[in-house]
Amino acid sequence: MIVFGGWKRCVGAGLLCVFAATVWAKPQILKSYRIGEVRYVSVTDLAKFYNLGRNQINSAERVEYRTSTALLSLQAEQRDVTLNGVNHWLSWPVEKAHDRLWVADVDVLKVIDPVLRPETVRFGHQIRTVVLDPGHGGSEHGTHGISSGRAEKDLTLDLAKRVQEFLSAAGIRVVLTRTTDRTVELEDRVAFCREQHAGLFVSLHFNSAGGAEGIETYCMPPAGMVSTSKPSSQNGDADRMPGNQYDLCNVWLAHCVQRSLLRATQATDRGVRRARFVVLRDASCPAILVEAGFLSNATEERQLISAAYRDTLARAIGEGILVYKKTVEPR
Ligand SMILES: [Zn+2]
Repeated sequence: MIVFGGWKRCVGAGLLCVFAATVWAKPQILKSYRIGEVRYVSVTDLAKFYNLGRNQINSAERVEYRTSTALLSLQAEQRDVTLNGVNHWLSWPVEKAHDRLWVADVDVLKVIDPVLRPETVRFGHQIRTVVLDPGHGGSEHGTHGISSGRAEKDLTLDLAKRVQEFLSAAGIRVVLTRTTDRTVELEDRVAFCREQHAGLFVSLHFNSAGGAEGIETYCMPPAGMVSTSKPSSQNGDADRMPGNQYDLCNVWLAHCVQRSLLRATQATDRGVRRARFVVLRDASCPAILVEAGFLSNATEERQLISAAYRDTLARAIGEGILVYKKTVEPR
């Protein structure tokens, strides 16, 4: 138990239930404490809970726990943490108080727990159909390659067809929201996914932002969680959206695909990020959106316009999906 003397911002302790995989198992408990308006869990308690061993870094600002199977690295005041080889964006910055670091309880439940204990993430039934969503199309070109001028819409369609080929060979039914160069509204992409009774939805895009580089994968923020690009909570963040039914599947799917892409490409890890994009917000199944590199960066553009590199991306996305699928389906 923590002594509260002199810690004026802390107004009480609560219990955070992190349930084990099986319904008959007893809930496991982490204590959470309020700092301002948010409840936090001590990183020291987290390390004990997940058997992460000893902190490897002698610093008041940073911790790193590393075992043969797990890695948790985080820093005071930062919103990104490294979890098992992938950068993840939290809703709230890591707090430093009472000579300890603290993580918001929503981030423990919705980010850290599903990644450190994926065996607790369940989809409930077999994934029979995967929907791939090549971004843009028709009059919506997306971004363009800085040197080649190649349109994002053409490259996303090509990438989707390559992922389809890979997953079809693994015996999975894969359908695309568009198979030609045509305009498809975001709402129609969501509706198509619902009509197909898909078990999984992956939207494919390429990025643009000056010389920035790397790969990022988005999923829906849990209700109450701040989007990665926003400094603080906005109106509507607390609302629960259809995509929030799959909070744990969403982050685990994003982790699997992002990790697979990083391993295959050695690209810069821009992390698993959160955004209330229409295709994620209104999703009828677990859903992610992959930004597989920057067409505005000349070096990455050279890779992205190469068919061999897109094949590498496609295989990595497919392999990430297979890892996810194997974990979450009923056995
Ligand atoms: Zn795009």
